[in-house]
Amino acid sequence: MDLAVAVGGAGAAQQHQQLRDEVAEKCQKLFQDFLEEFQNSDGEVKYLRDAEELIRPERNTLTVSFVDLEQFNQQLSTTVQEEFYRVYPYLCRAVRTFARDHGSVPASKDFYVAFQDLPTRHKIRELTSAKIGSLMRISGQVVRTHPVHPELVSGTFLCLDCQTVIKDVEQQFKYTQPNICRNPVCANRRRFLLDTNKSRFVDFQKVQW
Ligand SMILES: [Zn+2]
Repeated sequence: MDLAVAVGGAGAAQQHQQLRDEVAEKCQKLFQDFLEEFQNSDGEVKYLRDAEELIRPERNTLTVSFVDLEQFNQQLSTTVQEEFYRVYPYLCRAVRTFARDHGSVPASKDFYVAFQDLPTRHKIRELTSAKIGSLMRISGQVVRTHPVHPELVSGTFLCLDCQTVIKDVEQQFKYTQPNICRNPVCANRRRFLLDTNKSRFVDFQKVQW
């Protein structure tokens, strides 16, 4: 079985929060150009129709061929592959802009990008920590798949001491509550309630090799 996977690791996402990331912003812009400009053999903007499909409420992921990206801009494709974890949220923003420019979508709707046709294929045992943060295509024997379930990616919490609402708590591979209540006069560090209706989830599937 072949899968394109982002190799995650604790902290991989963490280090690029907060600070402005110019490399990632440049990738976002170039990826947006790619979506607007890349044509199929008939001279049509290749990803336009797929982007228009994203208007449908149940659709939020644009699938892009990595071969197309390489053809459009070799350097961009290299950065996307090697620094996937770093640039991924920016690529998703480019998809959102592209979808919004070509259809009416709710302002709060999130969009995602998925890549296929990754050139190099690695064996599962070749995965090492040096690959953390990159996008890889791996092959191996799948021994078990688990059902798709919603995975929390960003949580909205209610402080049970002072009722302050704490939004946008990023989740990194494990359930993460706020470190401390954002109300400066409240010292609560432990008693929070997750508001599932105001949190963001993605479809997640665990695969065992
Ligand atoms: Zn509080």
